[in-house]
Amino acid sequence: MSSSTEDLEAQAGLEPENQDNNQVDEEAVRDVVIVGSGPSGYTAAIYTARAALNPVVIAGSVTAGGALVQTTEVENFPGFADGVMGPDLMDSMQRQAERFGAELVFDDAVELDLTGPVKVVRDGSGRTYRSRAVILATGSGYRRLDVPGEERLTGHGVSWCATCDGFFFRDKDVIVVGGGDSAVEEATFLTRFAKSVTLVHRRDTLRASKIMVERAEADPKLHFAWNSQVVEVLGENAVEAVTLLDTVTGEQRRVQTAGVFIAIGHDPRSELLKGQVRTDSEGYVLVDAPTTHTNLPGVFACGDLVDSRYRQAITAAGTGCAAALDAEHYLAGLVDAVRTGDPVQATVS
Ligand code: NAP
Repeated sequence: MSSSTEDLEAQAGLEPENQDNNQVDEEAVRDVVIVGSGPSGYTAAIYTARAALNPVVIAGSVTAGGALVQTTEVENFPGFADGVMGPDLMDSMQRQAERFGAELVFDDAVELDLTGPVKVVRDGSGRTYRSRAVILATGSGYRRLDVPGEERLTGHGVSWCATCDGFFFRDKDVIVVGGGDSAVEEATFLTRFAKSVTLVHRRDTLRASKIMVERAEADPKLHFAWNSQVVEVLGENAVEAVTLLDTVTGEQRRVQTAGVFIAIGHDPRSELLKGQVRTDSEGYVLVDAPTTHTNLPGVFACGDLVDSRYRQAITAAGTGCAAALDAEHYLAGLVDAVRTGDPVQATVS
């Protein structure tokens, strides 16, 4: 089968960029658009920017920087012997990406068409970005309890962010739900403000790391409600109490509280990708590990969007780097394909 150079260029999305006046950004076919920020998106941005691929990063409107922006001290990111504040780390990564020319857009991607050789991303302001490669780094979102009262009282005592809302619970009794590092971290942080903090966990052992558990157990303001599950959040206009189910005996009891901080993990943010990019049953994007290739040529995925197992800032940054290198390799392959007439292939079968 033979194709003209024009056909191959069109197939590879290599038409010349439209240099027209105001339309230039919307019509130009860029090398790479990165959807999402956080450690994976920003690392992909640093690497693709340094490779002169002029990445555009759709960084998010309120979630730019990802989950670390809402954490306090990060003690385990290599290179910071004395720890680093999550927001400072993300600010530093952002500036590092910008230093090499990454263009940041603080808006949400609301529509993606990833199936053709030219990928199309639309943001919440209606702007369109076209590119030959897309790196997906949308991370994950807070998991919900899905119990009565949770949604109605969100912002009125129900929260997913102690660093954002802890201040409002000065000298109050609050609960934190969950048994992982996030829950213990939130609970420990809240003891700075609250009169008492009760960690409500559905089992009798924590999943959190030993050092954090030891710190929590030594905190006189922190108490534990083991084998307990929140089944309802109660309150008229603000949280007043929760109903706890004893997961061993099946009994229920009412516990007074002014705040319910939910820290039960995250789900991948892959809703926009449905029907295009293959995911597992939980919504994590499937990649051809150890690469970051998805089932679509030119579409790469990294960070918590892909990773249900490790979910660390450093592993997200690592896969962000891999996605950038995979995208760079793919784009170089497009140029070669135009030269030799070979089609470019990818990825997860
Ligand atoms: P996680 O480790 O997945 O823990 C989620 C916790 O919530 C588990 O204890 C789980 O209970 C509980 N849970 C899940 N669904 C629930 C439900 N519907 N009702 C009640 N409880 C529920 O999530 P994470 O704590 O957000 O941590 C995610 C990753 O980030 C981990 O790798 C963690 O190490 C890392 N992280 C690190 C730091 C740090 O190092 N500073 C801080 C935060 C997070 P079970 O235990 O029964 O499954």
